[in-house]
Amino acid sequence: MGLRLKIIVTLLAILSAMAGLSVWVVREQLLADGLVQERVEAEKDLRRLLLALDAQLVQLDVVLGSWSNYTAMFEHVAQPNAQFRRDELTAASLQAGHIDWFYLLDVEGRTLEQVEVPAPDGARPMQAHAAQLQDGLLAHVGVLARGAQPGCGLTLIGAARALLCFRPLLRSDRSGPARGTVVIGRWLTAAMVDSVQRQTKLRFQLLPAGTAPAGARMGAALEAQFAQGVPTLSLHARELDMDLPVSGIGGQAVALLRMSAARGTLERLQQSQGYLTRGLVLLILLTGIGMMVVVDRLVVRRLSRLEQELRSVVDSNHWAGQLEVTGQDEIGRLAQYANGMIQLVRQQMVELTAQSTTDVLTALPNRRKFDECLARLLAAHQRHGRGGALVLVDVDFFKRYNDSYGHPAGDQALQAVAGCLRAQARRPEDLAARLGGEEFALLLEEVDLAGALAVARQACAAVQALGLAHRASEVLPVLTISCGVALLRAGDSAELLYSRADQALYRAKSAGRNQVAA
Ligand code: GH3
Ligand code: MG
Ligand code: MG
Repeated sequence: MGLRLKIIVTLLAILSAMAGLSVWVVREQLLADGLVQERVEAEKDLRRLLLALDAQLVQLDVVLGSWSNYTAMFEHVAQPNAQFRRDELTAASLQAGHIDWFYLLDVEGRTLEQVEVPAPDGARPMQAHAAQLQDGLLAHVGVLARGAQPGCGLTLIGAARALLCFRPLLRSDRSGPARGTVVIGRWLTAAMVDSVQRQTKLRFQLLPAGTAPAGARMGAALEAQFAQGVPTLSLHARELDMDLPVSGIGGQAVALLRMSAARGTLERLQQSQGYLTRGLVLLILLTGIGMMVVVDRLVVRRLSRLEQELRSVVDSNHWAGQLEVTGQDEIGRLAQYANGMIQLVRQQMVELTAQSTTDVLTALPNRRKFDECLARLLAAHQRHGRGGALVLVDVDFFKRYNDSYGHPAGDQALQAVAGCLRAQARRPEDLAARLGGEEFALLLEEVDLAGALAVARQACAAVQALGLAHRASEVLPVLTISCGVALLRAGDSAELLYSRADQALYRAKSAGRNQVAA
């Protein structure tokens, strides 16, 4: 995997992990906030619902006003009037005032009058529960009424729920003291529940009561009960339920009010999470692209360029160039070190090449170099018809020299001979080389036979002129050399040319040594 791909994969992995973590953290936070908000909104709705139910009680209380401040009724308590009872205390009168039942209690809380609108099936639930009502509900009302207190609330009669209001009975001009208590009621019907639901746009149901909330006050308004009871919130997948136990006029449990609502917060939460996720993905993409561009410019592109330059140097084995140094950072320094290494390799290659083509004893070019130059000379001859000559040089009676003066002296003599031959290769294209042992060669370019013979003779003269004593030589008492000269011919190979020069050398030796033969 390339560096660029590695960086992309690593960046993507890191950014994705960061994004995942961020989404998770924000989601948890949103969820926590959403739950709080959901409860706050549900509580607000519940209070609105309770206020709407309280409004029903207020309506009933308004109706009660005309019954409790009624001089004729006030008089009827002191002096029961049959005509009044027949005319006013009838089911028809109740229906006209939209109430379902009516009680008139004396100041002691005893029932003086009771009227109720019978159900369509003729049932009279109030009458059916008369004894229970007298001991329970009406006794409670009596207690409250003794404090000359009006009140309204819910109540449970048998299994039915009703709205109930009571007020002290006064004259129309409200002059007292009260002569009793008027209690009126209205059944809490499904139609009434529907009407409240429509009005508030809130769904609710009244479930069978559990236990009354602790500390329920007698006659407390419904909205006030919100603060007394703790509403219970139950969350479902798409809905929430909020339950509040509702107590009645006497503080008894009347119903479990369950308000149900759609979980709008959840949708909002999912929406916010969607926006957030999309935003983060976009941010990651942009950040990733941005970082890629920066990393690419600062690192990858420069490293690739460095790699290309270095590869071209290694592949071409041409250690002459220098890598471009971009910047003074780590990559810049890497290029500098690489340049240092290229220079070192170049120097070592030059040294190795020199060592491998130089004779150690005489410092003349060796056999390898000689072969290269000979091949070049032949090529130039074949291509451009350039002339040239090979002069093979051999020291005379050198074995005897070694034997007479010792090997070290022989080495020194070879170095001296090398010096003489080097001096003969005057032109830059001429070459003096040691082929091995006490054998040397001169390669001469652009030379004819006369010129080659002249150079060879000068070499002989120069060695002789050294005057190195050689008592065992049969030629002269000094060290001498013999030379064989061969001129380049068309179609020559290295072997052919060498062989002709060698034959010439043999002739020079045979002819008495210290001379040149061609
Ligand atoms: P000729 O005149 O026929 O050439 O006789 P030669 O004795 O010179 O020929 P031969 O080939 O018999 O002997 C060459 C000698 O050169 C043998 C060897 O000891 C000596 N020699 C070869 N290389 C070196 C060297 O590097 N140093 C020394 N001191 N002697 C060497
Ligand atoms: Mg020899
Ligand atoms: Mg010899």
